[in-house]
Amino acid sequence: QGMDAPAHVLVFPWPLQGHINCMLHLTAALLDAGFRVTFLHTEHNLSRLARAALPPGLRLLSVPDGLPDDHPRSVRSLKELTESMFTTGSAAYRALLLSLRSDSDAPPLTCVIADGIMPFAVDIAEELGVPALAFRTASACSYLAYLSVPTLVELGEVPFPADDPVRGVPGMEGFLRRRDLPRGVGRSEDGAFDPMLLAIAEGIAHAGKARALILNTAASMEGPALARIAPHMRDLFAIGPLHAEHDAAASLWSEDDSCMAWLDGHGDRSVVYVSLGSLAVISHEQFTEFLAGLVATGYAFLWVLRPDMVKTTGSVLREAVKEAGSKARVVEWAPQRGVLRHRAVGCFLTHGGWNSTLEAAAEGVPMVCWPFFADQQINSRFVGAVWRTGLDMKDLCNRAIVQGKVREAMESGELRGRAHAMAQQLKLDVAVGGSSSSDLERLVGFIRELRA
Ligand code: UDP
Repeated sequence: QGMDAPAHVLVFPWPLQGHINCMLHLTAALLDAGFRVTFLHTEHNLSRLARAALPPGLRLLSVPDGLPDDHPRSVRSLKELTESMFTTGSAAYRALLLSLRSDSDAPPLTCVIADGIMPFAVDIAEELGVPALAFRTASACSYLAYLSVPTLVELGEVPFPADDPVRGVPGMEGFLRRRDLPRGVGRSEDGAFDPMLLAIAEGIAHAGKARALILNTAASMEGPALARIAPHMRDLFAIGPLHAEHDAAASLWSEDDSCMAWLDGHGDRSVVYVSLGSLAVISHEQFTEFLAGLVATGYAFLWVLRPDMVKTTGSVLREAVKEAGSKARVVEWAPQRGVLRHRAVGCFLTHGGWNSTLEAAAEGVPMVCWPFFADQQINSRFVGAVWRTGLDMKDLCNRAIVQGKVREAMESGELRGRAHAMAQQLKLDVAVGGSSSSDLERLVGFIRELRA
């Protein structure tokens, strides 16, 4: 391949909102570096995606995810989605890579950057002679914990919901408890061991076989975990938070922008922003506890209630919120990064998904975390006990706790001060000469060299 043609990267995210956002930010960074990028969606998501938000010059291709089009893509169908992506999806991906060999619309592929939870995407690319890098869209601390799952099982430190200290994750012996460990795809309230966890952990560790692992994190936040992961990888790049310099997210739900004008009408740091991300579901009882707790704080709040988030129909929920007082605003999906940047937002009640955590961190907004599943349990522990930029509700959800934690997050100068300091540091990290910016430059060079 001649050195005059631009490098051409195929970016292939796992077909869920958080993964798509994060890998679109990466895509924007690669386009800025002068690369050609082809973004590989599932057909279902491509039909839902807000295309207006996509970076210009981006080529979109799709593969089927294997589920019928009207099948819900919710947390309850994650196992089915996984199975069909690993069969139907992977076969279509192989066929697509083969067809791209004789593609006249773009230069030959320089490499694939595949979501780090799809080992097949790395293996198939390499088998067909295309170098593959893995991109894991979660935190380094969760990555290290997943790498440690075999040790945790050996030491008997799973199942989870217990306060016992954990010894099985290196470097975290002082503060990590069983209830802070990452989970499988189901929320096991009873703490039963999820056999899927071993499979997930193995899939995640598979990035060690890729040419490199890319993480959306910064050395200033997660240096110790990064140092422990590095020896397991052929190369490691920590280039986050990507959205701070290359915001290119696009939503699968339509964003309700009207909440921005509503925020404009509120005083500085007077509003609580509440969102549990794209997958978490809550029971009607939990909804009632959140609502009562929020109302009891006396603060105005903006609450994202996705249509598929509570079993009860949306109108009943909206009615309940309305009855609770005029200080509340409900939307089905918010322009979240804009909301977190708004001067009126005083704290963020969140599930602690990694994108949400980074978005709050970059804006210096204190968090209250109610982790739902996967990496969120360990992210929230880091928020509460390591970075101390927020508070961790962990598995407790009742009105008194919601009220107390939200009040503290709104009013504590110490939390705000630390959150602000972290935001300042992250700005330095992504600016020219900063650690994440330098690693991104090194990644661009790494990909260019793959062409030689
Ligand atoms: N998000 C959004 N509007 C909302 C809720 C979430 O744009 O109303 C975005 C949010 O900014 C983040 C992503 O959706 O980029 C959620 O990813 P995260 O990793 O926080 O959680 P997940 O949805 O994967 O559980």
